[in-house]
Amino acid sequence: MKPETLRFFIDGEFVAASNQQLFANTNPVDGSLISHVPEATGADVDHAVQAARRALSGPWSTLSADERCRLLHRVANIIDRRFEDFLKAEVTDTGKPVSVASTIDIPRGAANFRVFADMVKSMADESFHTPTPDGTGAMNYTVRKPKGVIAVICPWNLPFLLMTWKVGPALACGNTMVVKPSEETPTTATLLGEVMLEAGVPPGVFNVIHGFGPDSAGEYLVRHNDISAVTFTGETRTGTAIMGLVAEGIKDVSFELGGKNPAIVCADCDFDKAIEGTQRSVFANCGQICLGTERVYVERSLFERLVNALKERAESLVMGDPFDPSTSLGPLISLEHRDKVLHYYEDAALQGAEVVTGGGTAELDRRYAAGSWVQPTIWTGLPEESSVNREEIFGPCCHIRPFDAVEEAIALANDTDYGLAATVWTQDVSKANYVATHIESGICWVNCWFLRDLRTPFGGTKKSGIGREGGHYSFEFYSEIQNVCVKF
Ligand code: NAD
Repeated sequence: MKPETLRFFIDGEFVAASNQQLFANTNPVDGSLISHVPEATGADVDHAVQAARRALSGPWSTLSADERCRLLHRVANIIDRRFEDFLKAEVTDTGKPVSVASTIDIPRGAANFRVFADMVKSMADESFHTPTPDGTGAMNYTVRKPKGVIAVICPWNLPFLLMTWKVGPALACGNTMVVKPSEETPTTATLLGEVMLEAGVPPGVFNVIHGFGPDSAGEYLVRHNDISAVTFTGETRTGTAIMGLVAEGIKDVSFELGGKNPAIVCADCDFDKAIEGTQRSVFANCGQICLGTERVYVERSLFERLVNALKERAESLVMGDPFDPSTSLGPLISLEHRDKVLHYYEDAALQGAEVVTGGGTAELDRRYAAGSWVQPTIWTGLPEESSVNREEIFGPCCHIRPFDAVEEAIALANDTDYGLAATVWTQDVSKANYVATHIESGICWVNCWFLRDLRTPFGGTKKSGIGREGGHYSFEFYSEIQNVCVKF
C-alpha cells in the first residue's frame, strides 16, 4: 500500500505544511515507511495558535459545561466506533503488541474524555464570608475560567493515551489547544482531528501540528506568545529545555517526566502475584512505560527464587508480529532508541554485571532485520552508582539486588534523582503502609502495578515532574481561578 501523506489539523481543516517539507514515519517492526509527515514551520505553528486563540471567543466559549460535556461524550463514542482505526494506527506507529494497545491505549483514550466530562460538572467553587471592620462583611467567591490556548506536547510511548489524558480535561475546562504529537507517532493525533470534526467540536478548538522538538514545531509552539500554558510529557532533559523556553513568557507548565522506578519485594509477599506484577512492570510495552520498574530490590531469602522466576518469564516472552494476539513483546520505538538501550546493555557488561538473561539485540525472522528489536534483559551485581542503576533506560530490562532490612530497601529506592512511581509487594499491611509513605514518589502501588483511577493525582517528585494531573488536579492546571470580593 502506498504510504499516505499526513496533514496538520488547523481551524477545523486538514492542511499541508506551508513549505511542503516532509519527514518519514517508519515502522519500528521492520523499518518500512508508514507515512510522510509534514514538518511545521514557525508560520504553520502561528497559524494553529491564532486559530486556537480566535476559537477562545467563538461559539466554543458560549457553550455551557453541560453542552461541552455532551460534545466530549460524542468524541468518546466516535473513538469507540473507530476503535479498529485507532488500534491499527497505534500498533503500526509504535510496534506495540495489539494485546496491549487494545486493552490499554485505545480504551483509555476514550475514557479520558468521558471521565473528565463527567467530573467537571460536579466541580464546586469556593466562597467565604469575610468579616469587615464596619460590621457589614463581604463575600469572596472563586470563578473558574479556561486558561487559554494550551500547548500539548506528547511522547511516543503511549501516544494516544497520554495525549487524550491532557486533551480531555483541557477541553472540559473550556480551553483551546495546539497538540504536537511525537515525531515518531503522528497518526492517532491526526485521526483525533477527524473525530473532532465529526463530533462537531468548533473549528480552532483542537489543532494538531507535526514536527520535531528543538528548532522545529515543538520549540516554536512552546515559545509562542499566545500560548498560555504548556503541558508536556517526555524526558527530563526536554523538560529542562522547555522550562528555559517558556521562562520569558512566564507560562504555566505541567511536566510529566522520566523515572527510574523501584520495586520492593518482601519475603512475605504473595510470590506468584509479585512475579506476575514485576514481569509486567519491567517488560510491558518493551519497557517503554514511564511507570515501569528498572530497579528491583528483593529481600535476601527470596533473591534467587525471584531472579530465576523473572528469568524464566523474560525468556518466555513472545516477540514477533505485533498484530498477532500471541505476541507479548514488540520492538523499541526506533533504531536510535535501540542504540541507546544497547549502549546500557554494553555498559552493564563493562561494569561487571552478571547478565542473568538477554543483553543484546534479538534475532528474529529475516523480515524484521531492519526493526528495533532487543532482548529482554536482567542483571544482578551492579553497584547503585552504575549508569544502569542511575539513568532511565526505557527498555525491557531491570537490575535485581538483595536487601536485608526494609529500611535499607527504602533508602536504596530513594537514592535516585527521580521520583515517579514505586511498587511494594508484601502481605503485611503495616509494612506496606510504612514503606509506601516513606518512598519518595508521586505514586506508590502496593501489591499491584499500573492500576489507575483517572480521578487520582498523577505526577512525579524530584526530576520526574512538576505538578499533578488527574481528577480535580487536572482542572486546577487547566483553569484560571479568579477571586471576586463583594462588599455587602
Ligand atoms: P522526548 O522528551 O524526547 O519528546 C517528547 C516530546 O517533546 C516530543 O513530541 C518531542 O518532539 C518534544 N520536544 C523535544 N524537544 C523539545 C523542545 N526543545 N521544545 C518543545 N518540544 C520538544 O520524550 P520521548 O522520548 O518522546 O518519551 C520518552 C520519555 O517520556 C521518557 O523519559 C519517559 O519516562 C517520559 N514519559 C513520562 C511520563 C510521565 O507521565 N511522567 C509518561 C510517558 C513518558
